[in-house]
Amino acid sequence: MRQIAIYGKGGIGKSTTTQNTLAALAELGKKIMLVGCDPKSDSTRLILGGKSQETVLNSVKEMGQENVTEEDVFKIGFGGIRCVESGGPEPGVGCAGRGIITSITTLEQLGSYERELDYVFYDVLGDVVCGGFAMPIREAYAKEIYIVCSGELMALYAANNICKGVLKFANSGGVRIGGLICNSRNVDNEKDMVDAFAKKLGTRMIYFIPRDNVVQRAEIKRQTVIEFDKNCAQADVYRQLATSIEENDMFVIPKPMTMQALEDHMMEYGFMEEYERTTDRKNAAA
Ligand code: ADP
Ligand code: MG
Repeated sequence: MRQIAIYGKGGIGKSTTTQNTLAALAELGKKIMLVGCDPKSDSTRLILGGKSQETVLNSVKEMGQENVTEEDVFKIGFGGIRCVESGGPEPGVGCAGRGIITSITTLEQLGSYERELDYVFYDVLGDVVCGGFAMPIREAYAKEIYIVCSGELMALYAANNICKGVLKFANSGGVRIGGLICNSRNVDNEKDMVDAFAKKLGTRMIYFIPRDNVVQRAEIKRQTVIEFDKNCAQADVYRQLATSIEENDMFVIPKPMTMQALEDHMMEYGFMEEYERTTDRKNAAA
């Protein structure tokens, strides 16, 4: 059983990418458990379609941890994927990471990790790797981390921070980076920039996902792209990413960059070069 955590800046596309990729892994016949670790509790929406999911934190609060059953916390979605939402406190009340700690201890108690599973995925809110948000890696549940990013500075900044967190637990827990997943924002020179950034961190860009509106169309219907239109090009994108993860054998201890090195990297690969090129072209034409 491989346990994988997906980290990345808020809004970068962790939940979308995770669920679409899991749909592709389910197509291959893999047995999967998906644990949503974001207080927003929207990690399983596309896999579950219309079904409403009670969070583990709420179930435990209402019934007491010892009375909670697997039926209370699991819903089965597309491709037989077993879905859990950890939940979180009301905004402004308590630690947001609390839900994850409760969720994982409840799954342990229920024996959910002893089921026959090929994969457990954790979809984790990832601007910070502290408290409960670090639990999947600190306690060595997930040994394999993928970071979703784009070519935007803040996405790279978050990815670099996550690497710092992983580095901290690499020796004690054995956690490793499996790669960066670039979820394109159509930034200039994005593919080369993220690819080179990944290499500087000691890892690689395992896949480049183009931006495509079919993702939104599927999302409106609460579906993954594969369920929505299994023959479209973006469905194959997620199938290829699934295969890359399935076949990955490069797991590294990351080498985080300094802020200065990160800014220099943006300069080197970023929009300035592209901007100057187009300006030169315009000037030449004038
Ligand atoms: P996160 O889980 O990292 O907070 P989400 O997965 O919720 O982010 O993604 C934010 C939004 O970005 C979603 O509404 C989704 O529709 C959109 N999105 C993500 N990836 C793509 C893509 N490759 N193409 C188009 N839209 C995307
Ligand atoms: Mg999310």
